[in-house]
Amino acid sequence: MSDVLPGLSADGPTVKALDRAGVFHSWSAQGSLDPLPIASASGAHFTDYDGNRYLDFASQLVNLNIGHQHPKMIAALCEQAAKLCTVAPGFANDARSEAARLISELAPGDLNHVFFTNGGADANEHAMRMARLHTGRFKILSAIRSYHGATAGAIALTGEPRRWDNEPGMPGIVHYFGPYPYRSVFYASTPEEETERALAHLREVITLEGPESFAAVILETVVGTNGILVPPPGYLAGVRAICDEFGVLMIADEVMAGFGRCGEWFAVDHWQVTPDLITFAKGVNSGYVPLGGVLMNEAIYATFDERVYPGGLTYSGHPLGCATAVASINIFKDEHIIENARDLGANVIGLELAKIADQHPSVGEVRGLGVFWAVELVRDRATREPLVPFNAKGADAAPMNELKAACIERGLWPMIAGNRIHVVPPCVTTEPEVREGLAIVDEALGLADSYYT
Ligand code: PLP
Repeated sequence: MSDVLPGLSADGPTVKALDRAGVFHSWSAQGSLDPLPIASASGAHFTDYDGNRYLDFASQLVNLNIGHQHPKMIAALCEQAAKLCTVAPGFANDARSEAARLISELAPGDLNHVFFTNGGADANEHAMRMARLHTGRFKILSAIRSYHGATAGAIALTGEPRRWDNEPGMPGIVHYFGPYPYRSVFYASTPEEETERALAHLREVITLEGPESFAAVILETVVGTNGILVPPPGYLAGVRAICDEFGVLMIADEVMAGFGRCGEWFAVDHWQVTPDLITFAKGVNSGYVPLGGVLMNEAIYATFDERVYPGGLTYSGHPLGCATAVASINIFKDEHIIENARDLGANVIGLELAKIADQHPSVGEVRGLGVFWAVELVRDRATREPLVPFNAKGADAAPMNELKAACIERGLWPMIAGNRIHVVPPCVTTEPEVREGLAIVDEALGLADSYYT
């Protein structure tokens, strides 16, 4: 037992009992929780206290792009900790400056300045505030199928049901429909038609809600938790054009989609669109230490050249967070991790999921890119009736819970969201590991097929 961490590394049942006695978990009813105690981890795997090893096809919360316990990340963390553990945001710090330099070098266009945060929700809070101060307008457009975080403003931006119990939220948020060709609310029959109609809808919402009142549109470049919705051709460029026309800023939330998840540094790189602000977190340093941030362009930066930016966080630009971001970006470059994520998507996951879809009538659609994929399950391919109803709870969610349990029994930790399995392994996962995981998904899907009518 260690002198400085006495009592840690107890047995699994003790860890769980202490958790249930003292820890209040997020997004959960506390009474029915049964968290798995994790003892150790490496790369794309983690291990529980009974020695069961799981392939982490969820990348924890889709943040572990570099994998568990990368030795160079740990070395960077120890090196920075030995040198300087903490420094207030008002000082200059080498790890922070280098992280800002590297991140803005990777970012598109003139997004050259970084405001660091502790995670994704606060990055979105600050992007919203910057947009309001820069434009002098207050309304923000946000997609109905979106998740932007759990702080007061970020949950108000969020379109999906997790917002509901947090209402009334913040005045000035207007929700709109983004594109979703498989379940088009625009009655579009092709992705191109979906783009055209989704853009017409966005334009109409802005026009009828008062164009002069809008500060920004915020959107997930690739919608994450709400379906891994890859924007159809021309959509992001169309949003950019509408923003320019109405003098509205474009905020790309890349908290989940950025830093390799989509097989590019930033997901917008796929479509060569330059937003005014990009928010990031998760993959920037894979959560080895909490870190997020807002990238802003020169025009927004100039707004605060003389005007004081009225916001900040004690831990903004934390040296341990920034040192691990620097290390992570360098490791990504040295070990060609972006390329690995891109290749896995194009040459393994996409092809294997297409085969899986052929074999299982319960698969309605597979979609994604990089290491960011969804398998959408239905009860009927013709009607596209979802395997479980929207926002299913309790017994209604049973088919997805059974699927999750079947994967876990076979050594795969899956990500289940609504009526979908999200295939979101770390960017460092090897091809054999991905194939092993997909074979388990394939086997488990037999269960979903049994519900097929
Ligand atoms: N934005 C998106 C797209 C996310 O997926 C998330 C979290 O999943 C957030 C924001 C919130 O990030 P955080 O949990 O770090 O506050």
